[in-house]
Amino acid sequence: MIREIRAKTLLAHIRHPDSWFGIKYNMNLYRGCEHQCIYCDSRSECYQIEDFRDVLVKVNALELLDQELARKRVKGIVGTGSMNDPYTPAEAHLNMTGRALAIIAKHGFPVHILTKSDLVLRDLDTLRAINARSRAIVSFTVTTTDDALARIVEPGAPPPSARLAALAVLAQQGITTGVTMMPILPFLEDTAENVTAIVEAAHAAGAAHILPGFGMTLRDRQRAWYYEQLDHHFPGLRQRYERAFGQCYHAPCRDVPRLERLFADLCRRYGIRTRAALDVPQPQQMALL
Ligand code: SF4
Repeated sequence: MIREIRAKTLLAHIRHPDSWFGIKYNMNLYRGCEHQCIYCDSRSECYQIEDFRDVLVKVNALELLDQELARKRVKGIVGTGSMNDPYTPAEAHLNMTGRALAIIAKHGFPVHILTKSDLVLRDLDTLRAINARSRAIVSFTVTTTDDALARIVEPGAPPPSARLAALAVLAQQGITTGVTMMPILPFLEDTAENVTAIVEAAHAAGAAHILPGFGMTLRDRQRAWYYEQLDHHFPGLRQRYERAFGQCYHAPCRDVPRLERLFADLCRRYGIRTRAALDVPQPQQMALL
């Protein structure tokens, strides 16, 4: 169900942008996400989304974005996609993200979009305009290259093959593109074969960076939903998780050091960066520009 809400403010100011995503101002135009990934951390109690199947649209978000960007003195990267996907299916007709990008272009800010959807291609012209003036980065989340497995763990999202095809189109247009390879689900995706397949497919599509996360979080409602889905799709696997992780919040992959070494070797071989922010202008440089 799609419901409308009003927000008091939109942009969250990140005082110290990390070297992974480089985001200085984070925005969420929606709450909830139709992609319904079985591992989604946004289901956790701390985010206070009662029914994650609902998509809440911040109807005044575009007005707020325009006002808030006009007041910013430092032109840092505006990020979107951390709590919900900016290209959730509702976006196809609501066009909140598309219109937000036009506002970002007008104010001359760089942008970093995190998504699992090839719907981002609809906004190619706006992304090119942003890129010409500052910088546009698009990172596609890929946790497996296996479309059949992705249909189970990310049931509402376009398949990884479609994401990688969209990445290739954006890369050909000069947009900085990459992959967020996270989470890598223990016992399901934490194999050398899967990590190798993701890096090779990202390289073939023209990815400039891959941001890895070798494991997942398991928090209250997130864990409950994930375990319910494991029982349904992978009988016996929940018990394996319970034995390995108990009530721990963080569930790392098996043999993380080996996967990290493999990942580093592959990225070195293909010239892929493991930090997206390394090739974007930092806030001070943007202020000078
Ligand atoms: S796309 Fe992201 S926000 Fe949406 S359900 Fe999946 S993990 Fe959650």
